[in-house]
Amino acid sequence: MSASNHPLILDGKAVAARVRADVAQRVREFVALHGRAPGLAVVQVGQDPASSVYVRNKKKACAEAGIQSFSHDPPATVTRQELLALVDLLNRDSQVDGILVQLPLPAGLDANEIMDAIDPHKDVDGFHPTNTGLLAQKRPALRPCTPYGVMRLAQEYAIPLSGARATVVGASNIVGRPMALELLLAGCTVTVCHTRTRDLAAEVARADVVVAAIGKPQMIPGAWIKPGAAVFDVGINRLADGTLVGDVDFAGASLRAGWITPVPGGAGPMTIAMLLSNTLEAALRRMAR
Ligand code: NDP
Repeated sequence: MSASNHPLILDGKAVAARVRADVAQRVREFVALHGRAPGLAVVQVGQDPASSVYVRNKKKACAEAGIQSFSHDPPATVTRQELLALVDLLNRDSQVDGILVQLPLPAGLDANEIMDAIDPHKDVDGFHPTNTGLLAQKRPALRPCTPYGVMRLAQEYAIPLSGARATVVGASNIVGRPMALELLLAGCTVTVCHTRTRDLAAEVARADVVVAAIGKPQMIPGAWIKPGAAVFDVGINRLADGTLVGDVDFAGASLRAGWITPVPGGAGPMTIAMLLSNTLEAALRRMAR
């Protein structure tokens, strides 16, 4: 792919800022037309400290984009019936365009059951089986934010995807699987790897596009990267000394890659930007229905 000896660092912070500014502009147009702001209901069950940080960041990003957020913070002791009733209420609330239930849920609550109860038209995380199914059927509606953010980064940097060999390492419902579907939609020939993959090194080494979504610090050494490949590192791992690193050995991979995302500052900032974009999209689609 890229012939350069030096990789182009994919600046997720800068691209995310552009996406957020664009959303803010379109939100102003939405308000002028409809007399209200797009609304995002943010449900946090319990007080998990990491979730609290994510939720706070999401609400702050909403405010900056002019999106109204509605907080719902039931205690960890909330019952399944109470939580389903809350989701039902939000599904029917005309001020609410998007519903986000922060994961993980406390033990005893079935996340699948709760997510399945969200109106797919308000599923701004893109995790509902209907939205995953639509993506699988080449007719995407609301798309999972992290893979969608990777695609937006690739688009911004004009990384050639059509016909490229792509390897996704990680097969979770929220990142790996929808990532594979996005890359397939973009015309890549896609391989998806997981814990039972026999020769991970070989699968990565033949890829023009690598997406790492494993959750293991620096598990992919630079030597595996095909020269010139585009490397998207979705992993976020905190080391004992507090440093954040990805799933790829950034220093080693930088010697070979054509493009590479840093951690932090690569795929991470794109996720929130795409959440805002999805909320606006959901609001526009609802008003058009
Ligand atoms: P999961 O733990 O749900 O999935 C990890 C995947 O990696 C699984 O499919 C697993 O395989 C695979 N895997 C684990 N170990 C290996 C291995 N040794 N070799 C090959 N495959 C392996 O994680 P998530 O998908 O939720 O998250 C992945 C990473 O992305 C995490 O670091 C997370 O923090 C980060 N993340 C970042 C986001 C962002 O905004 N940038 C958003 C969401 C996540 P198997 O299926 O066989 O178990």
